[in-house]
Amino acid sequence: MNCLDYRRQLLCGTGETDGMRVHRLQCAGCASEWQEQAAFEGALRAGLEVPVPAGFGERMANAQVARRRRFLAVAATALVAAGAGGYAWLARQDPLALANIDFVMKEEANSIMMGAIPHAEAQAALAATLPLDRLEGLGQVKHVRPCPFNGATAYHVVLMVPQGKVSLLVMPSTRIRGRHHAEKEGMHAEVMPAGNGSVGVIGIDAAVVDSVAGALKA
Ligand SMILES: [Zn+2]
Repeated sequence: MNCLDYRRQLLCGTGETDGMRVHRLQCAGCASEWQEQAAFEGALRAGLEVPVPAGFGERMANAQVARRRRFLAVAATALVAAGAGGYAWLARQDPLALANIDFVMKEEANSIMMGAIPHAEAQAALAATLPLDRLEGLGQVKHVRPCPFNGATAYHVVLMVPQGKVSLLVMPSTRIRGRHHAEKEGMHAEVMPAGNGSVGVIGIDAAVVDSVAGALKA
């Protein structure tokens, strides 16, 4: 069970299996995802259990439950947004950073299964954008592999730093200005210029993503 499998199954809403529970207990990202899901469903259930005064017609009851259910859905969404630092982050979602998150959720497992390219090849491929030595100065480079991304070739890197794991997408032919951020389904991404292209840092812990992005910029 990995994070991707866990979240897919969680979204299906068929309840948590033993395998899922084992993963959740050792993964902070999936645990918080599970908590949000449980809070939202609890609020919806409470909305459906509102007692209906005797004598009210069936239609009246349905209308009231529907209204309360809508209200609770909005309230729960607002709570989730407030927990993530208010509504401001909604406006700050950067499309390239979001695409980086999608890549990790959908393609990372595939890239790792296909295997890493040899060290010398990775060194040559990354030299003009983000030299491999710089990444190796931050932590252990576990994986480098070219992958199709955004209509070009990007290099998918898995980096272990002392605080945890992050993924990187080195994008030699994608030019951007400034540092941008996005978050989606418990994952965080920051993209910024690197060499003649750009790099994205993606992970489940915003603080770790931020510190790796900061170190790469420095
Ligand atoms: Zn997980």
